[in-house]
Amino acid sequence: MSFGIVHVAYILAALMFIMALAGLSKQETAKLGCMSGIVGMVIALVATFSEVETGQGFTFIVAAMVIGGCIGLYVARKVAMTQMPEMIACLHSFVGLAAVLVGYNSFLEIGIVAPTTVTIPANASIAQINELLDAAKNVAEAANSAIPPGELGIHLAEIFLGIFIGAVTFTGSIVAYGKLNGTYKLSIFKSAPLTLPGGNWLNLGALVISLTLMIWFLVEEQPSIACLIIMTIIAFLFGIHLVAAIGGADMPVVISMLNSYSGWAAAASGFMLDNDLLIVTGALVGSSGAILSYIMCKAMNRSFISVIAGGFGNAPVSQKEEEMGEYRELKAPEVADLLKNSSSVIIAPGYGMAVAQAQNAVASLTEKLKARGIEVRFAIHPVAGRLPGHMNVLLAEAKVPYDIVLEMDEINDDFENTDTVLVIGANDTVNPAAAEDPTSPIAGMPVLEVWKAHNVVVFKRSMNPGYAGVQNPLFFKDNSAMCFGDAKKTVEEIVAAIGD
Ligand code: NDP
Repeated sequence: MSFGIVHVAYILAALMFIMALAGLSKQETAKLGCMSGIVGMVIALVATFSEVETGQGFTFIVAAMVIGGCIGLYVARKVAMTQMPEMIACLHSFVGLAAVLVGYNSFLEIGIVAPTTVTIPANASIAQINELLDAAKNVAEAANSAIPPGELGIHLAEIFLGIFIGAVTFTGSIVAYGKLNGTYKLSIFKSAPLTLPGGNWLNLGALVISLTLMIWFLVEEQPSIACLIIMTIIAFLFGIHLVAAIGGADMPVVISMLNSYSGWAAAASGFMLDNDLLIVTGALVGSSGAILSYIMCKAMNRSFISVIAGGFGNAPVSQKEEEMGEYRELKAPEVADLLKNSSSVIIAPGYGMAVAQAQNAVASLTEKLKARGIEVRFAIHPVAGRLPGHMNVLLAEAKVPYDIVLEMDEINDDFENTDTVLVIGANDTVNPAAAEDPTSPIAGMPVLEVWKAHNVVVFKRSMNPGYAGVQNPLFFKDNSAMCFGDAKKTVEEIVAAIGD
């Protein structure tokens, strides 16, 4: 493909990526958005691939694409919806590592050479001396020819920043993966925040040392790879500490923040490789991730700066179960009776609905209740489940109509006029402690105010706390009752008990 066609293809791919982001912002257009992204990526791959010259590199690239494509297909088909954030964290770590490798490769490619020492024989003529000096100059120029002298400083800064952001993204994403997975024993992978003494000072120290190294790297006549290596080690440790210091309940913000970092790392790689599409795509991912992080921080009442500093989620642990009082229990047939006597019902789903795969049973229950003339709506918390939009995807899969699925802000004022609320596998997102207990680790986080309804039934298997590890006073309120068991099984029993 000629250079011009490749550039047109890149612009087309960039437009497709913008359309993908626009499409993904609404449930109705999400599929179209996904398709635009796929088409854009195919165009980008074909255009980039067409620039590769046939030879050994060509074979390597084809082999890497086939192996990578097969692994991607296998993992994407196998991964459960509940493991999606882990997979996203894992993919971010690849972007980070790629940026580090591209950075080192770019540095080695520049091949900056030391001022050459020229040995001039004592009896050399002026012509011979000039000849020797010209030869030495040619050697240096040939080695540095890839980058025009004026742009060398900028290129070195791109390399340094690209490696730094990539390294932070790489290790930060691995820690986020471990925290979301929850099966590793290391303390950095625990859901609770890792609190080292003077944690924020450590972060600040890492940034100051990295900045000093960057200045040194840029002003040195012969930039040393040692600066890059020391900075990379510091950035790896910084990434680990930054994410390990964040509590599990704040993980959604971390994931979207790492998404943003991975975008900036890709954009930096784009500058290093002089690839416009990578710059545009990286900037799109970087800025959309940053905007999403900001929106989520606002939704969870967190300060954006404290997320970046990686220091929140450290509040004291809340009350234990036994200090909260007694709870009531209802069996499935009793819940069915309660529902039959209600005229309005709101369902607040959460992570447990996803684990139990109860969405189809919940959709059947909705149909049953609607057929009886009962108003049924869904209340979706922005971080219900394990990734933003998790509940919307599950409900869309079960063909629940979009118009009865409402966001938290749209429905929060309606709970007090609602007869019955069914909390299906949700916990942190309906915890009144967030609104009522300033010492709670989730204090200040906006929640679904389900406790204001006339009756609340909570579906879960035990009295265990939710993801944030905080006990929930909702379970002990006078208007609340627990319905224990796997959510799918319990909801199916209720559907059967309601009858026709
Ligand atoms: P939680 O994780 O707070 O609680 C889920 C509840 O579901 C648990 O109490 C569990 O109780 C119950 N449960 C689990 N399996 C089943 C089952 N098979 N049947 C019935 N119940 C079950 O869920 P929420 O959705 O309310 O909150 C999400 C949490 O995850 C928040 O803290 C949020 O910050 C965090 N998070 C959100 C992300 C996002 O982007 N959405 C990403 C990462 C984290 P039991 O074990 O007793 O059954």
